[in-house]
Amino acid sequence: VRRCAVVLVHHPVLDGKGATVTTAVTNLDVHDLARSARTYDCSDYFVAHPILAQRELVERIRAHWMEGSSGVRIPDRREAIEILRVVGSLDEAILALGGRQHVEVWATAARERRPSLKFEEARTLARKEGRTLVLVFGTGWGLAHDVIAASDQLLEPVRATVGDYNHLSVRSACAIVLDRLFGAH
Ligand code: SAM
Repeated sequence: VRRCAVVLVHHPVLDGKGATVTTAVTNLDVHDLARSARTYDCSDYFVAHPILAQRELVERIRAHWMEGSSGVRIPDRREAIEILRVVGSLDEAILALGGRQHVEVWATAARERRPSLKFEEARTLARKEGRTLVLVFGTGWGLAHDVIAASDQLLEPVRATVGDYNHLSVRSACAIVLDRLFGAH
């Protein structure tokens, strides 16, 4: 199985009107995605935010789970948050993984905003040897178009077979995507 990194992006993402914005960090996202990433044996989890104060907030959350009372009380959480690194952008995360040539970037979205890589093929590709897989998750109303356009693939949206309501939280979407790729089925 190839090395896999999860990146949670707070900029550039879309708002409800389709404008490009920067979202605030949600505490819940930070350690919930760490737990999912760790559960599916991802080697890295990056929270990317362009604003220093927000990165400091994430570092405080990390410290809380690493050294704080919670880390002592719930060591499993500490093990999960250990893989978390805070960076200023997706590009910084990619650099930390060896640079754009050394990674394969798969973006995610709730809608098929470009022809998508179907999960069946993605699962096979994810289990092959190859460049580090970078799974990019957004916030707000989804990743900005540039991020999706610059990725190697857009992963097939997680969707139900019925209805057209599709507003999963990034926490739910990340866990489902990781299970589709690396879950024991
Ligand atoms: N409507 C937005 C979109 O099209 O992505 C949903 C935004 S959701 C709050 C934030 C992130 O969760 C998205 O950027 C994407 O990474 C992930 N996400 C949400 N729903 C998803 C789905 N059905 N399939 C795959 N990823 C999803």
